[in-house]
Amino acid sequence: ICPANSFIASAWSIIDTGAKPVFCDVENDLLLSVETVDKCKNKRTKAVMAVHLTGKLCDNERLRDYCNEHDLLFIEDASQAIGAKNSMGQSAGSFGVASSFSMHPIKNLGLYGDGGVITTNSQELAIQMKILRNHGLINRDECITWGFNSRLDELQAAYALIKLKYIDEWNKKYIAIATKYNENLSNKIIKPEIKKNSIDVFHNYIVRVPIDIRDKMISLLLSKGIETKIHYPIPLHLQKCSSNLGYKIGDLRNAENFAKSMISIPIYHTLRSSEIDYIIASVNEISNLLF
Ligand SMILES: *Cc1c(COP(=O)(O)O)cnc(C)c1O
Repeated sequence: ICPANSFIASAWSIIDTGAKPVFCDVENDLLLSVETVDKCKNKRTKAVMAVHLTGKLCDNERLRDYCNEHDLLFIEDASQAIGAKNSMGQSAGSFGVASSFSMHPIKNLGLYGDGGVITTNSQELAIQMKILRNHGLINRDECITWGFNSRLDELQAAYALIKLKYIDEWNKKYIAIATKYNENLSNKIIKPEIKKNSIDVFHNYIVRVPIDIRDKMISLLLSKGIETKIHYPIPLHLQKCSSNLGYKIGDLRNAENFAKSMISIPIYHTLRSSEIDYIIASVNEISNLLF
């Protein structure tokens, strides 16, 4: 089970194992919950994948307890959440049996090419994954299983080691920008909650506006030089590649409504203060014009 509002990789990684993805709906914070997962669970459910979308942690403790109770594996797609922590200081990627982080160039810890990290507390899984990523080889000549090539490129690894020193500092800037947006953007807009005790790293800053003016708002922002994106415009269950999974429009209401009402406002750690002010003024001006 994984949320319908995510990047496609959350789903194909499930397909890749030979399993069938079952998409669940998301709550107003854009994340899955025990409740939305429970609606999709059946006898054949094997695992639950929490996606910490926008760098905001899912309710990992409850989800993990739920998974333990029902004998399901709990996995985290923490691709967007490097550095995120709950109120007890526990990090994204420390809850699941295995968790993935992306270091794609657009991520908070982005490299200059592809890269990623998997964390696990299982010694057995760690060994198995190291073998799989290197063609299934246990040494230069002996192959014990069919694997693939997914080694982290040396150059990217070197960049990552340098960037790791700065990620907490950069994340603080993401949070400061999100806080400034929350304080200054018009209250007509539905803004993300910023929790006091936990650290959400705001890989994206997603607001929601009325469906009928959303696209107009995007084009007006663009005409002012402000590029926005939608994360994500097509929910996973309505992607063409999902057509054999048996979903139809209307199956996952929140995910579908959010796909039509979300806008991701620019956020990155090098965004200048004057640019932030300009974005706030522009968003507010356009909101007043449109709704
Ligand atoms: C970026 C991202 C991925 C994929 O990461 P890659 O580094 O491109 O493999 C998977 N899931 C989510 C939620 C992402 O944002």
